[in-house]
Amino acid sequence: MKNDAIMMHIKSRILDVYNENLLVNGTTMKWFNDLKIILSEYFGVEMAHYLIFDLDTFSPLRENHAYTKKMHTIKWLEIEAFFYEKDFTEIPFWDYENDMSKLVKILLRDPDNKPIGLLVMDSTVKWNEFSETENMDEFVCTISKLVKTIKQSIILVQQENQYRHLFSVTKAFNSTLDSGEILNGTLFAINNAFPQIEPSLILSNDQDRKTSVPYKLFDYTSERTATVDAYVSGEITTEFEQDSGVRLINVPIKGKQAIYGILQLAVPKEYFFSTRQKEFAISLAEITGSALENAKLYIQSHKLVSDLQLINETSHTLNRNISLDEMLVFLRNQLMKSFLPEQICFVFIEEEGYRVSTASNDYFHTNEGQLYIQHVANHFNKVKDSLFIADFNRLTKLKYGYRSLVAVPLKEQNTITGFSIVLHKEPYYFSFDAFKLMQSLIQHSSLAISNSTLRNKLQEMVNRDHLTNLFARKYLDKYVESSMIEDDRGVFALIDIDDFKQVNDTYGHQIGDEILKQIASIIQKKVVEKGIGARWGGEELALYYAQMTLEEGIETCKQLLVSIPLETNPSVTVSIGVSSWEQRNNIDFRDLFHQTDIALYKAKNKGKNQLSFMEVSQLS
Ligand code: GH3
Ligand code: MG
Ligand code: MG
Repeated sequence: MKNDAIMMHIKSRILDVYNENLLVNGTTMKWFNDLKIILSEYFGVEMAHYLIFDLDTFSPLRENHAYTKKMHTIKWLEIEAFFYEKDFTEIPFWDYENDMSKLVKILLRDPDNKPIGLLVMDSTVKWNEFSETENMDEFVCTISKLVKTIKQSIILVQQENQYRHLFSVTKAFNSTLDSGEILNGTLFAINNAFPQIEPSLILSNDQDRKTSVPYKLFDYTSERTATVDAYVSGEITTEFEQDSGVRLINVPIKGKQAIYGILQLAVPKEYFFSTRQKEFAISLAEITGSALENAKLYIQSHKLVSDLQLINETSHTLNRNISLDEMLVFLRNQLMKSFLPEQICFVFIEEEGYRVSTASNDYFHTNEGQLYIQHVANHFNKVKDSLFIADFNRLTKLKYGYRSLVAVPLKEQNTITGFSIVLHKEPYYFSFDAFKLMQSLIQHSSLAISNSTLRNKLQEMVNRDHLTNLFARKYLDKYVESSMIEDDRGVFALIDIDDFKQVNDTYGHQIGDEILKQIASIIQKKVVEKGIGARWGGEELALYYAQMTLEEGIETCKQLLVSIPLETNPSVTVSIGVSSWEQRNNIDFRDLFHQTDIALYKAKNKGKNQLSFMEVSQLS
């Protein structure tokens, strides 16, 4: 057949190929198989390959992602020179090519001369003849047109597939607010679209910890430069990893507000990652980013609501008139419930030092616990801001048991009156969000706590006598009354200064007051932690000990008879009446007071500066 006729035939056969392949679903190989048959029929070509051009590289046409090992990818830059004069060459440019196996390489271009593909085949006699003729240009042109049209139709099909895929991913993501599900979906989509590519997730540490999806925490200090670049710039980056021979493609997982991490694709060296695959990965990462963002925003808004509820519930309860202790126990429970600390305490700053409230864990009474209190106290001596320590052991050479610490001050107006500490053994245990919430919870409670403290102080003031600072009569009455209900026994004593009228007359009323104060403080020292001292009225003072026998009471009061004249200046003596009660006596506090008064009267009558007592049986 003459070459002109061959050309005519080829053209008509290619038209068939074109028609048959136009709408075939993505089978990239079929049109080329058809073309191979034509090449074999007319030129006796036995072996032919086709390389697709994308970006700057020719890569072998593959089917089902199997790439031809023999045909490597090749850069346009490396071979451009071979095609300056004509669009085909037999000059070898692959390593395995030699003169024995001459390959014809035909470059296919689009109308503006940009390469679209490379046809590679055996060199045959028939072909050589044909290539010498005028028909050669037309041949290249016809095949180029075919390839171009097929390529366009394939792109359309692939794009459609890609969009369909992304669309279903988006739909799935929009129907969930579970970040684990979203990340799983992302990995699945990559595995599905590119089975040869190993995807991994590198996420910033503001993620939900509970996901079961495998991921790596993004760490500026240890991450590869290209990964950090992608994370910082929000642009896709690639890097060749020498050791494993894979190309790493870092696709930023971008939301509207932030970058949440990197979708890293490990692409085998020989694998050609096309522009369209890249676009797919970028779109997928963006969809992932905005889905994660939505989930996060949802959780945040949800959390915000529950945070507000917590604060609201707490201040509501605290503002009911409950005691300070009840208040702290409640606050402690709220903190336990919301932040799950292992240790918790409330410390009040008092003149004598730090008072650890009973709502605190016992741990804070141990030496180690005290160290934490001291550390926090030192902090609040200098600064008024809350303290957030992610790893306590980083601050000291000594290694303590609890590494996460949050301390929030309790404030009364602008003064720090105390603080709360929560501890956990695990470092980085409390999140920054938890810290902020704790802060606002305690600050909201601060007012209620200081109100309660003030109320306590006020009550204390009402309960005490101003001159002597002993308890007032009213308080004594209540105290003794309730002790006689709750306890088994008790001792009551009345102390009256001897000839006090004369003291006043001699030294003046002011000195008289001083003597009263001196005696009050002697009594105060005596009763400390065991009983209470009170001002009965005028120059008469009272003592009450719960759970004390009459004998013990007499002993204690005898000591006062000795110490008062020694410790008063000017020195005075006192007369004391002592009495006691026991549960079986069945008397009330008025009876007790009455019998004690009788005892005092006896002491005065017997010549003062002495003690007299009444046994209960004597009364009835
Ligand atoms: P007796 O040994 O019998 O108890 O003699 P007395 O002088 O202590 O007893 P009397 O009941 O006659 O007088 C009590 C005096 O105590 C009268 C009053 O001036 C004095 N007095 C009472 N309350 C106060 C007080 O708060 N301050 C001072 N300085 N004197 C007081
Ligand atoms: Mg008197
Ligand atoms: Mg007197």
